[in-house]
Amino acid sequence: MSQSADVVVVGAGALGAACAYFAARQGMRVHVLERAQIASGTTSAGEGNLLVSDKEAGPELDLALYSRDVFRDDLAEYGRLWEFDGKGGLVVSATESGADALAELTVRQRASGIEVTNLEGTQLRDYEPHISPALRAGAFYPQDAQVQPMLLAGHLLRLARDLGAVVQTNTAVIGIIRNGDRVTGIQTSAGAISAGAVVNAAGAWAGVVAELAGVQLPILPRRGFVLVTEPLPLTIHHKVYAAEYVTNVLSSDEGLQTSPVVEGTGSGTVLIGSSRERVGFNRTISVPILAQLAAKAIALFPILASVKVMRSYLGFRPYCPDHLPVIGHDPRAPGLWHASGHEGAGIGLSVGTAKLLIQALSGQPTDLDLSAFRPERFDHP
Ligand SMILES: Cc1cc2nc3c(=O)[nH]c(=O)nc-3n(C[C@H](O)[C@H](O)[C@H](O)COP(=O)(O)OP(=O)(O)OC[C@H]3O[C@@H](n4cnc5c(N)ncnc54)[C@H](O)[C@@H]3O)c2cc1C
Repeated sequence: MSQSADVVVVGAGALGAACAYFAARQGMRVHVLERAQIASGTTSAGEGNLLVSDKEAGPELDLALYSRDVFRDDLAEYGRLWEFDGKGGLVVSATESGADALAELTVRQRASGIEVTNLEGTQLRDYEPHISPALRAGAFYPQDAQVQPMLLAGHLLRLARDLGAVVQTNTAVIGIIRNGDRVTGIQTSAGAISAGAVVNAAGAWAGVVAELAGVQLPILPRRGFVLVTEPLPLTIHHKVYAAEYVTNVLSSDEGLQTSPVVEGTGSGTVLIGSSRERVGFNRTISVPILAQLAAKAIALFPILASVKVMRSYLGFRPYCPDHLPVIGHDPRAPGLWHASGHEGAGIGLSVGTAKLLIQALSGQPTDLDLSAFRPERFDHP
């Protein structure tokens, strides 16, 4: 093999970029391979929220709080590069039963370290002046934040390159080389690269990459649409979403679920989601789904009824059946590591995942226990 690296990273989305950065920061020789362009996968299709509000107590919440700290501490000096905005999230309910369920959720979350303020319906306008007066209750989460996902991936890779990493786009990994059991490198259309470790950060395609090493990962695409309005003067100040969104996130149903998620951006556009369905990698636009999203957003913010939609886009969340990502070493193929399957939270969880993965890969104790995320858990549940 003509080229070699300590770590080859497959995929240049948020996860691959973050892994490359933390590996390069450790002094490792890093080579990133991306079959298309930087952030051309799901990372270009997300809203970029760093949410703790939509998580129940458990390993994913622990990872979300950890990742938030990595953004705010380790990467604090770069936050402006990816438009880090600690704007907070507002969860609302229009029904009495929804308000009760939200109040119960906040009790559990507060016990797990989440900061949250419960609000009466009449208090919601203090946070969002244009919100519907019909809403009964809500909760404000000051720890929720947002970044611009493509800027995050692009700048992390630039920072990694400044530390010596090689980033190769338009080059697909078509094989994973094994010597006996051990993974020793990868094969691309442009030649082979030997590696001490291979990190699979191929997002919704991570199962296909794992298969190249002869191991199974049950990662599937979960499609989502987003509507983008024309730019407005600042109208919506926080991430605002309906309480039923949390139930939809946790659902394993293949069928369509929609719940209103609305937020303003620095450029003035308003992003409107969210839909979830498992329909493979089907890229056909669905006007009925977009119409549902628009109607539900207008129910939250009646002012949006007179606003034009500029465009829509879709992406494929990398979904795991137990809604947890796959992070860590794969004992079925020694030398292969995974940082994939983060579903609808991969931007928020990216930098925490990467820091932990590189700690493990370099033989250090990890700041969080990674056993809930182990790649082989689906073989022996
Ligand atoms: C509508 C929608 C809204 C979302 N909103 C949010 C949000 O608000 N907050 C949040 O945290 N997350 C959100 N997400 C989820 C988030 O976007 C994903 O979890 C995240 O982008 C996954 O990043 P990744 O790097 O794992 O995958 P990707 O960005 O898909 O990167 C994987 C890369 O691997 C490359 N690749 C695949 N196979 C190969 C190969 N054989 N060789 C070389 N390269 C390969 C692909 O081309 C791709 O660029 C949302 C997703 C959607 C669809």
